[in-house]
Amino acid sequence: MRVAQLGSGTPEIAVVAGVHGDEPCGVRAVERLLDERPTVERPVKLVVANEAALERRVRFVDEDLNRAFPGDPNAQTHEGQLAAELVAELEDCLTFSMHSTQSHADPFAIVNGVSETARNIVPQLPVAAMVETSNFAQGRLFSKIKTIEVECGLQGSETAAQNADRLTRAFLTAVDALPGDAMRRELPVFELTDVINKERADTYEVFVDNFTEVDAGETFAAADGDEQVADQPFYPVLMSSNGYRNVFGYAARKLEVLSAPPAAD
Ligand SMILES: [Zn+2]
Repeated sequence: MRVAQLGSGTPEIAVVAGVHGDEPCGVRAVERLLDERPTVERPVKLVVANEAALERRVRFVDEDLNRAFPGDPNAQTHEGQLAAELVAELEDCLTFSMHSTQSHADPFAIVNGVSETARNIVPQLPVAAMVETSNFAQGRLFSKIKTIEVECGLQGSETAAQNADRLTRAFLTAVDALPGDAMRRELPVFELTDVINKERADTYEVFVDNFTEVDAGETFAAADGDEQVADQPFYPVLMSSNGYRNVFGYAARKLEVLSAPPAAD
């Protein structure tokens, strides 16, 4: 784990990259901040989490770090120990953690509960949606640390790296670490309700778009041509034909739309 800081004093804000070693976008954003060293109005902790996995370009060495929290200093796995180190490092910080996916190119935010902090900060980020995932929080960083996660785009893409950079700057502006005002945008809020499992098969197809409502009776995916039909309406999230081994993605319901404040005259 690499830890650095912008500004002086004890940080109450942290930016975390590389929780997953095959998602390099956030590392680029952190390295750019370290190169440019912008003047900050509040100190910011910068963390590159799983360096061993990043070096090997794999998601993890022994187990998924974002399922290993709270971890244990005496854990048998690299990520179990690292989780405990990260918790100690981030304990007092509002943390911004960057990820990327194989299923969706447009950035969106993931939170554990729609807190006042989430309602305030996330509409100031360049994201298309906020996804509340407390039904699936077990073992994740935000089960222990106050965290806003962002999905920056497609894994390994240049666009994801550029998005990570924009998202980090918007976050640092929203928390008053960087000067300026962030624009607030209208933001739909979704809650993950179910996992959509996939059967073992050779070919998988997904016929629907993430964050676009699927009607009851609509065919949304297929495994080896075997069609899966929605028995009730849902919003697909993180759905992809190639992403996770055992799941197509998740079903969500729309909770609300946070409105943008009227523009000042
Ligand atoms: Zn990730």
